[in-house]
Amino acid sequence: MPLPGESEGAEPPQSPQRGLGPSPKYELTGSAPKRDTMSESAFKCGWVALMGPPNAGKSTLLNTSIGQKVAIVSPRPQTTRNQITGILSDKDAQVIFMDTPGIHQLRGKMNRVMLQSAWQAMEGADALGIILDADLYARRPEFLDKDIAPLKEPIAAETRPVFVVANKVDLLGDKSKLLPLLETLHGFWPKAEIFPVSALNGEGVPGLLKAIKKALPEGEAQFPEDMLSTLPMRFMAAEIVREKLFLSLRQELPYSTAVDIEAWEEDPESGHVTIHAVIYVGRSSHKSIVIGHAGKNIKQVGQTARQEIMELLDRKVHLELWVKVKENWIEDGSFLHALGLGIQ
Ligand code: GDP
Ligand code: MG
Repeated sequence: MPLPGESEGAEPPQSPQRGLGPSPKYELTGSAPKRDTMSESAFKCGWVALMGPPNAGKSTLLNTSIGQKVAIVSPRPQTTRNQITGILSDKDAQVIFMDTPGIHQLRGKMNRVMLQSAWQAMEGADALGIILDADLYARRPEFLDKDIAPLKEPIAAETRPVFVVANKVDLLGDKSKLLPLLETLHGFWPKAEIFPVSALNGEGVPGLLKAIKKALPEGEAQFPEDMLSTLPMRFMAAEIVREKLFLSLRQELPYSTAVDIEAWEEDPESGHVTIHAVIYVGRSSHKSIVIGHAGKNIKQVGQTARQEIMELLDRKVHLELWVKVKENWIEDGSFLHALGLGIQ
């Protein structure tokens, strides 16, 4: 996925050995935060929960805001399963975003666990971002009420700063179609600030970030400047494999697919990493879908995932994928917990 809309400020220097994508901030060395302690505006730091219906563009907004991909994105709803953090550090603020699974009304154990994770993120936040697919509601206003039903009252009662992001404005041919939607949203949440944005191409994102930083509490940075996420690399690697599965199989992919990193070995001399990842599916018929004819699909998933994990780790990676059947894992609480899903 291209990463448009680098956040405001200086571009991170491009590392010579990396040809693809923006250089991750964790490669920068020796650059202490450039804070002017004498300046009048104090350093801001806080947690922002990104919430909203599935597929609104929460994960895309997170990636664009921090200028790096930390959350996986797919055209299918329910791609994000638990709380993903992304950290934006610059000279006057540190914003710790919590991307969440969409707020929806589906049943089932995993869905409950996903919802819990979204509400938990909301509890711990200093400010809230409500992400909505403005293109969808401009065309189909009748969907809005049901989609935001779980959030409507809690957000109206909020005392913390709320930012409503009317996303996907790049899809709107005629921007004046946005106005009735913005008015409706203002009616629901009069205290909230509303921002028309395209998380995909970055339009409106700098203004949104500026407002968020302004609203955060004063305080020292909570994480090192070069840290992109609080999540371990192991988890991010499993997420990358899951994204490639989503993208390769599209509609065919059984929803009940999970990825677990069983082994992660680093060669102390060369630094090369060998990763064994297990793809869990709910039925044996799903196994053959994931593997594909003559192993074609799993091979493609392995190649694209390996490439991206190599970019993330900036070192050579050997990735081995296994497909295992585990019936009904989606309702198995302890398995969900073992995968890192649910309350941490
Ligand atoms: P989430 O479920 O809210 O995290 O949504 P995602 O970030 O996974 O995005 C869902 C889909 O919408 C993906 O196919 C994204 O590429 C797409 N998307 C997200 N933001 C935008 C946007 O601003 N414009 C357009 N055209 N597509 C977007
Ligand atoms: Mg998501």
